[in-house]
Amino acid sequence: MLAPSRKSILNPLAEISLNTPKTLEALYPAVEPLRILPNVNVIKIGGQSFVDRGREAILPLRAEIGEVCTKHQILIGAGGGTRARHAYSLALDLDLPTGVLAAIGNSTSVQNARILQMVLAEFGGILVMPDSFQSLPMYFRMGCIPIMPGMPPYEYWEKPPEKGRIPPNRTDSGVYLTAECLGAKRCIFVKDEDGLYTDDPKKNASATQIPRISVQELLERNLADLVVEPVVLHNMLNAVNVREIQIINGLKHGQLTRALEGEPVGTIIYVAD
Ligand code: ADP
Ligand code: MG
Repeated sequence: MLAPSRKSILNPLAEISLNTPKTLEALYPAVEPLRILPNVNVIKIGGQSFVDRGREAILPLRAEIGEVCTKHQILIGAGGGTRARHAYSLALDLDLPTGVLAAIGNSTSVQNARILQMVLAEFGGILVMPDSFQSLPMYFRMGCIPIMPGMPPYEYWEKPPEKGRIPPNRTDSGVYLTAECLGAKRCIFVKDEDGLYTDDPKKNASATQIPRISVQELLERNLADLVVEPVVLHNMLNAVNVREIQIINGLKHGQLTRALEGEPVGTIIYVAD
């Protein structure tokens, strides 16, 4: 250890690089991190798959949320959807880089969060920005439903995608990471299909639904298309709190309620030990 002096602050990390996993593991053996809000159910409401469908989709789900919110703590993350895709295509047409696309992509999830907040205001819907995590306990104590834009705030610092220039971390990723950081009880994705299929059921009529699958197997299968951003699957492998996600069909009344009760509706994707 460095000799203590007024100018040094003793701590076990002082003398090592933070890029040495083995040393770090020896100093801090794997201990479960604190679950900050362990009773919270984090729910992503899809942009393209759900909000963009308008009243036909949103109003029945609103009624369902109105019923379940008295029993379950709910935090909602909003997707971006078709308007985000329009902005991405314009930006791509102008040869703009991924970081710029990510910064632009944020706005439509803010719009959808604002829309959902007003629609759910009667039940306690309240708009929360990603840097307001510290206020969440108060909102839950007050029986509110915090609603956040789903896009993670990477913006110009978005990681480069494997291919192309579309930001790999979009609203599925942001919502999942919110659940992981908070140590939430569940992370549920509300979309317009009964979960994950062997292929996009909108394009392939012979695609079959997969009720339960491990992340490892899913990655191995290398499906042509996925119902959730692939980066979520990769993040799950390293995650400690949220090792399971559920994708449900919000167009079918009751699926959200059943998922909140722990029923295996839709698809469950889990990390195999
Ligand atoms: P969100 O609105 O949350 O952004 P997306 O539109 O990005 O959701 O993703 C959901 C859509 O993914 C579904 O509506 C479905 O048409 C499509 N999809 C692609 N591949 C699959 C698959 N393997 N299983 C189920 N849905 C899939
Ligand atoms: Mg999407």
